[in-house]
Amino acid sequence: MSTIPDLATLHALGPAQQPTYPDQAAVDSAVAQLRTMPPLVFAGECDELKGKLAAVARGEAFLLQGGDCAETLAGVTADNVRNKLRVLLQMAVVLTYAASVPVVKVGRLAGQYAKPRSSDLETREGVTLPAYRGDAVNGFEFTPEARVPDPQRLVDVYNASAATLNLVRAFTTGGYADLRQVHTWNTDFVRESPVGQRYEEMAGEIERALTFMQAIGADPDEFHRVDFHSSHEALVLEYEHAMTRIDSRTDAPYDVSGHFVWIGERTRQLDNAHVELLSRIRNPIGVKLGPTTTPDDAIALAAKLNPHNEAGRLTFITRFGAGRIRDGLPPLVEKVKAAGLEVAWVCDPMHGNTFEASSGYKTRRFDDVIDEVQGFFDVHRSLGTWPGGVHVELTGDDVTECVGGGEELTDMDLSSRYESVCDPRLNRVQSLELAFLVAEMLRK
Ligand code: PEP
Ligand code: MN
Repeated sequence: MSTIPDLATLHALGPAQQPTYPDQAAVDSAVAQLRTMPPLVFAGECDELKGKLAAVARGEAFLLQGGDCAETLAGVTADNVRNKLRVLLQMAVVLTYAASVPVVKVGRLAGQYAKPRSSDLETREGVTLPAYRGDAVNGFEFTPEARVPDPQRLVDVYNASAATLNLVRAFTTGGYADLRQVHTWNTDFVRESPVGQRYEEMAGEIERALTFMQAIGADPDEFHRVDFHSSHEALVLEYEHAMTRIDSRTDAPYDVSGHFVWIGERTRQLDNAHVELLSRIRNPIGVKLGPTTTPDDAIALAAKLNPHNEAGRLTFITRFGAGRIRDGLPPLVEKVKAAGLEVAWVCDPMHGNTFEASSGYKTRRFDDVIDEVQGFFDVHRSLGTWPGGVHVELTGDDVTECVGGGEELTDMDLSSRYESVCDPRLNRVQSLELAFLVAEMLRK
């Protein structure tokens, strides 16, 4: 059994991106409360997901991971969760058909409430306040009161995550995820939107495949329910530590706040607290790798986080930017491959492609997102490795946060429905388009 260092030991390492709480007694009380709360996910479910990610690492499955940049407590409504889930399920059907391998479905949800920031402070019209660090830490409202970190929010996040997961479990096993139904939503998209018409041919092929299955009387369980898993960035140490428990079956520690947790680009220092904590838990885990990552960094992270070289344990989520992936990614993949390391390679085509529009909104170009995924496929194909999946920030709603796509959203459109409290997300139509375009890449 591997032991977990206590919180004080982790904090002594000087972890980046942690809230500065004004009142330690209030922190202790929130952590004590969290430690009594039941697990949000079970260790056995984490193991199941690890098995599926092992198939991704071997090139026998494809990962679709997506959801908000930052969930909000106010966003825990039936409509919001359902719309997000629906678009992910629609994308998964298209990708499964094209990839001809299972698609592992993982939401960035039920825990994605804490954000690393490039600056501790935010200035608006001459007023400077602490930056918003996600609803797990402080309030989005630009007032001194809202921006004070409040540890009780961690308990609120736990409750919001429990409510979200409950709904997701009900939707995915209770008939909402029925394959016929999901396919009908896709054909509606193809028929009713001018953007969708470009994808008519593939939707038609899926239609014929389903009709064939029906004709021969095939109706497996998998047509009526899906496996869906939760994930978030493991950022606030108090929360992740309090949710780390010893599994009674195996005597091993699991972070039961989500099935899959990842370490962000800003907290992946080898000798610091996030890597230390996640090296001890048995969940499948990820690390974001940006353009400053050296091949040696990747090797050292794999040695520390996956010393037994277990397939499915470690996913490298690369986020280079469309302009850098074709030059930046090959040295990492080559060295990791040469070292014989078992990792799943996944492309986050969002975080290397963010810029500020002339209107002042943070945005991303749809074409850059697609170009980075294409670059990711090109690199892996040329090196003989498997492009294992995509990690995207998206919503099921018709927001206007990323520019471009078939609807040709412009800078001027951004203000009409910009709802993200952090990074810009693909909207419903852009997400479906991405799925069809990635499907075309998978088929080539
Ligand atoms: C994120 O996933 O929202 C994020 C902050 O990513 P990264 O750590 O890659 O910057
Ligand atoms: Mn983000």
